[in-house]
Amino acid sequence: MSNANFSRRDLFKLGGIAAASVAATSALAGCGQPAVRSEETQASAATAVSGPSFLVAPEPITEFAETHDYEVVVVGAGESGVSAVHSALAAGARVACVQNAAAAQSTGNMAACIDLDKTSEAAIQACISFINWKSDYRSDRDLVEIWARNSQEAIAWWAETAAKGGVEAKYHDAVLPYNGYDIYLHANTYFHTEGHNASVVAIAEQLEADGAEFFYLMPCVQLQTAEDGSVTGVICKSGDEYHLFTASKGVILATGDYSSNAEMLDYYAPDCKGFRLATDFRDGTGMVAGMNAGAIMTPHTHTKMIHGEPAPTRLEMPFLFITQQGERFMDETCCRQGYLNNFVRKNLAEGGFSDPSLAKFFMLAPANWQDFYEDWKAESPYDISMFNGPTPVNPERWIQADTLEELADAINAYGQESKWAGVSVDAATLKATVERYNELCAKGADDDFGKAAKYLVPIEGGPYYAIPRGANMLPAILGGLVVDKNHQCLNAEFQPIKGLYAVGNASGQFFGGVDYPMDIEGLSIGRAITGGYYAGKLVASL
Ligand SMILES: Cc1cc2nc3c(=O)[nH]c(=O)nc-3n(C[C@H](O)[C@H](O)[C@H](O)COP(=O)(O)OP(=O)(O)OC[C@H]3O[C@@H](n4cnc5c(N)ncnc54)[C@H](O)[C@@H]3O)c2cc1C
Repeated sequence: MSNANFSRRDLFKLGGIAAASVAATSALAGCGQPAVRSEETQASAATAVSGPSFLVAPEPITEFAETHDYEVVVVGAGESGVSAVHSALAAGARVACVQNAAAAQSTGNMAACIDLDKTSEAAIQACISFINWKSDYRSDRDLVEIWARNSQEAIAWWAETAAKGGVEAKYHDAVLPYNGYDIYLHANTYFHTEGHNASVVAIAEQLEADGAEFFYLMPCVQLQTAEDGSVTGVICKSGDEYHLFTASKGVILATGDYSSNAEMLDYYAPDCKGFRLATDFRDGTGMVAGMNAGAIMTPHTHTKMIHGEPAPTRLEMPFLFITQQGERFMDETCCRQGYLNNFVRKNLAEGGFSDPSLAKFFMLAPANWQDFYEDWKAESPYDISMFNGPTPVNPERWIQADTLEELADAINAYGQESKWAGVSVDAATLKATVERYNELCAKGADDDFGKAAKYLVPIEGGPYYAIPRGANMLPAILGGLVVDKNHQCLNAEFQPIKGLYAVGNASGQFFGGVDYPMDIEGLSIGRAITGGYYAGKLVASL
């Protein structure tokens, strides 16, 4: 990327680390000036900037087929969006929600909160610290605290409202120990419903009946700003026409992440390259509109969520991992599916990043695997798991054989059936791998990868299990616009932008690690619902 060709405003839009590094090498001086682009710079920007196209500021749209006046305009009818619509409406505001699709839509089936009735004050604080630890200390504690304090109410509202629309939740409770405190977690789950949209659609329908106005097939393409930099409305495209939705109290961006925008993904989260994309409707346009109105993006790299192994095979225990060719390749202590994607990127690279099935591998588990579960779980509660939400693993769904030769055949047959192009396990290689591993187990020292002796359990006797592992789908990216503790977007001077808010995955700094932690299952939807719920009420009260 040629820094010299960035205008001052483009520089601001990069945000955080990116802006700092560009600024350090750029010929542009005085980049702490207001983010106003000169006419000349505007005219040349489209051709001069050699960075990503989404960082090129568009010409302002000023002609509208229709203008609609509201107090609060929510952009996006997903989990955070409908929650914001609800609480703004409940607080008495005139609310519109503009949505790019023909209906409300989202993905996911589990949303977590803290059970405040059971969790002590110290444990609430410990939970906030835990999320920060799991986010490489890049979380904004204030934002996590919004979830901690408000999630119980928000998640209960969601379950109750969806139930009124005929979509009943099933609940999942768990206890997370941290720093000597017990954190009581509670989650709505909708795994039993068909697809992912049932609860969000049921809620949007009720909000519409209650007086919120939803405008479907009305994607936001730009925000309207005033001379002083405040955001005054949302500009949407319908067919060939533009509509202006003015927002006297505020605009809430609830447009989700940018995981279906290849250019943004390459730029902000390049280590997602080669993984399968989960959706096509999260194109980042909402965040780009925010950046064009002066908001800054959370410094990259952004947290990637890659953990989608099916529940029956999600056995997170550090037994013997083998490649698709039957060879050991790592210290298996890192057995949580959310982190394993980092070990398989080189396989994706070898396949030219064109075949996500190369991110898969197998775990060989001994027949007596269950004997180790309780002890290992007690010692390493954040690493060991045999559950996906409430659903335990199911050995019936694992590859099984009585001998290692038969296991090699069964693995190859599984590979063919599942269209994992790279699977080719030679029986002699598999036997050699297992023999070497058993030798290390007998010695009580892992000379090959340094795994702790307590995890050196030999693979011997039958039946032999091979468990297909390795998530290869990208459900979400958790890095969005920088917001303050009111979910209000900040500009390059870290000042709040009047009239502009972001919630859910359109907002950043809740998560921060390279990978999404799966220790609090349903946290991303839990925080999306809670953030929307919190910000909608706040903006309506202005
Ligand atoms: C298959 C799958 C399963 C998952 N399971 C879980 C789970 O069980 N638990 C969990 O916590 N997380 C889960 N996730 C992640 C979860 O879906 C997201 O973190 C969460 O939905 C984010 O909510 P949001 O409100 O920020 O965005 P979304 O729910 O994506 O909502 C954004 C909305 O904005 C609309 N939109 C986008 N751009 C525009 C625009 N320019 N103008 C107007 N509208 C726009 C979109 O159509 C969408 O409806 C899963 C993800 C996938 C893909």
